[in-house]
Amino acid sequence: MRRLPMLLDAHARALAACRRCVFDDPAVLPVVSASREPLAMLVGQAPGKTEVVDRRPFAGRAGRTLFRWFAGVGVSEEVARRRIYIAAVTRCFPGASPSGRGDRVPSPAQMTNCAGWLDAEIELIRPAVIIPVGRLAIERFLGTAPLADLVGRVHEVDATHGRSAVIPLPHPSGASSWIHGPGHMELVRMSLRLIVARVPELVAESAQSRSVA
Ligand code: SF4
Repeated sequence: MRRLPMLLDAHARALAACRRCVFDDPAVLPVVSASREPLAMLVGQAPGKTEVVDRRPFAGRAGRTLFRWFAGVGVSEEVARRRIYIAAVTRCFPGASPSGRGDRVPSPAQMTNCAGWLDAEIELIRPAVIIPVGRLAIERFLGTAPLADLVGRVHEVDATHGRSAVIPLPHPSGASSWIHGPGHMELVRMSLRLIVARVPELVAESAQSRSVA
């Protein structure tokens, strides 16, 4: 476990150099988590335009909502970024949606090409808690089911390293209308409470940072 930061450094370098998929824009490069001593793993869908420029996952509007959700249960953005490894189903911006609303869903080929990076991270980190965010990521771990049946619960899932508690969240982007449905925000808050119940260090370290500042 003590070698994890070194292993994740090497992994991040290899991932940042990946050019397996072809994109129209040559500026599209993989976005990689900076966490090296994670307590949990979060898996999103794909970076957006802002993340391509910022080179940090969840750097845009969806990220502001996501970190506001975490702040609601006492977890600061700084601690979330440092102690939650933020992965994704695909690591490169797939482009704008042809409808003009939100981003394009990554193609099946991109998802297949990228799957090995996520598998390798799960193998390295052996996360006790995995937080899939949005439908694509949730399907990766829990299959297809209505979000209302999945969000707000802990799902114990077998992985090669043992069992992980999978606690899903809906996608926080404005493109998702699910969160506005009746009772759905309460399910989101339930997932967040379950996450911090499993990983109380996230709250403790956030409180510590605040008292030092
Ligand atoms: S989407 Fe994944 S597999 Fe494709 S180039 Fe980016 S990092 Fe590589």
